[in-house]
Amino acid sequence: MKRIALLGATGSIGRQALEIIAAHPDLELAAAASGSQPIDGLAPLTQVGGDLTELLERAQPDVVLNAVVGFAGLPATLWSLERGVDLALANKESLVAAGELATSAWRRGGGRLLPVDSEHSAAQQCLEGRAPETVRSLVLTASGGPFRGRSREELGDVTPAEALAHPTWNMGPKITVDSATLANKGLELIEAHFLFGLDYEQIEVVIHPTSTVHALVRFRDGAALAHFGYPDMRVPISFALTYPDRAATPVPPLDLASGLTLEFAAPDLETFPLLALARRAGEQGGTYPCAFNAANEVAVAAFLEGRLPFLGIAETVEETLASVEGAPARNLNEVVEANAEARRLAERTAATA
Ligand code: MG
Repeated sequence: MKRIALLGATGSIGRQALEIIAAHPDLELAAAASGSQPIDGLAPLTQVGGDLTELLERAQPDVVLNAVVGFAGLPATLWSLERGVDLALANKESLVAAGELATSAWRRGGGRLLPVDSEHSAAQQCLEGRAPETVRSLVLTASGGPFRGRSREELGDVTPAEALAHPTWNMGPKITVDSATLANKGLELIEAHFLFGLDYEQIEVVIHPTSTVHALVRFRDGAALAHFGYPDMRVPISFALTYPDRAATPVPPLDLASGLTLEFAAPDLETFPLLALARRAGEQGGTYPCAFNAANEVAVAAFLEGRLPFLGIAETVEETLASVEGAPARNLNEVVEANAEARRLAERTAATA
């Protein structure tokens, strides 16, 4: 029996995780947390808001599913990794903002880190058991979001409702806007760097509109392994929660007889600059990825509230990254401070955009 602590129980990942847990006799929900919605009775231990590590201390779970949105998920990520408690990580922002701290806590703790991000779950499955020197590169696929194929000029007046209409994935508002700007793929690039220990030059991003291939790993002999499946988050959630058993899910097998078209294209970095900005922030390292994430969180919130135009999201992040003073990110205080500083700068930039 695996006792699970589900953080972010009322979001899209949280609701699908509850379905997986309920369907699997070896999984037990020991604790659940939400940001603000009441969840009385959902689990033996529940918490709404506050410091989620208090709930984890009380619950002492076997697995933490961290599905908190944004930087707020960081303490729970570090708590799990430091203690060697298996971490199913849907909160990619914590690994982006504090990648070096998180990976050193992971090494010390010695537990499992199982990404609940479809591309990274797929990549982990393709990479498992392979010698690092045989891996040439990892290819992350991106649907391209609702605005794929549009020019910059055509994005000046798009609304939050248009940005929230994702063509292939049904997800929460923050990540859906991130998919429309390609910031999500930028966050995933940094996430992959820390998860798999790959250099940034070894991580490619390709547009793949149907989201059927989730990731592809190229090896030095010219072979490539790809991971296929319908875009359904229940697959990576179930994979992480039932690892290494790969339990059955209700997701249907790929219907190859009805025709499967595999279309790939290079991303349009001019129209969607956040992908290139994330890559640069990742390469700069230290607190730059944290600042990228913080500025993006502020800008997405401003866009969703109607205070910032769509193109203002990338402009806010770019200006913030140009203004911050990068630092090494040696401890949690430095990361928390870098996050706060980047948020202040981004708020100011967004207010004048
Ligand atoms: Mg993803």
